[in-house]
Amino acid sequence: MSRQLCQRCKRPLKTCLCDLFSSINNQVHVVILQHPNEVKQSKGSATLLVNSLKNCTLLTGECFNENIELARIIRHYQDQIYLLYPEKQATIISRKINQDEEKSVRCLILLDATWKKAYRMYQVSTNLQQLPKLQLPTGLPSYYAIRKTRVDNGLSTLEASCYALALLENNELRYQILLKNFITFNQRLLSFRTPKNNPISH
Ligand SMILES: [Zn+2]
Repeated sequence: MSRQLCQRCKRPLKTCLCDLFSSINNQVHVVILQHPNEVKQSKGSATLLVNSLKNCTLLTGECFNENIELARIIRHYQDQIYLLYPEKQATIISRKINQDEEKSVRCLILLDATWKKAYRMYQVSTNLQQLPKLQLPTGLPSYYAIRKTRVDNGLSTLEASCYALALLENNELRYQILLKNFITFNQRLLSFRTPKNNPISH
């Protein structure tokens, strides 16, 4: 039996998640740099994120030094593009951060990978090292049920994006729908899991 795929989200019809896409007019441009290993692993959470934010770019790779699209984005935003990366010197995101017009965050880059792979991406991509860094405050709740070891406070990339945007744009309400849909998405994934070696499933 061939599995029919949804035209839009490219997932089997049974696990189509298009009904969970929202249309959020985010003010801060989000750029997701996804590690190639994560394309399958993310199981759709990046798809959910990218299809729910109007102002979002997804790029795949490990080393981004030669990435033309990323270079264009960095040039475009100049001093107002930041990388979400939890290192000691990274500024903790707060509502105050965008009060300074000159330094306000207009574009935020996130790495979508396991902690180990994100570290690798950062080490090989010198253009990322040159960017100013931001980090999220600690203690934010995570609803990510699929994988345990995640970048940044154990949050999924989708959650980290929502929390960062809510703080930077001083608008928590705007991102509640996406966080809520993410919980539904996780619950569905868990319910779709079939036992291993099930002779019926392919
Ligand atoms: Zn779909």
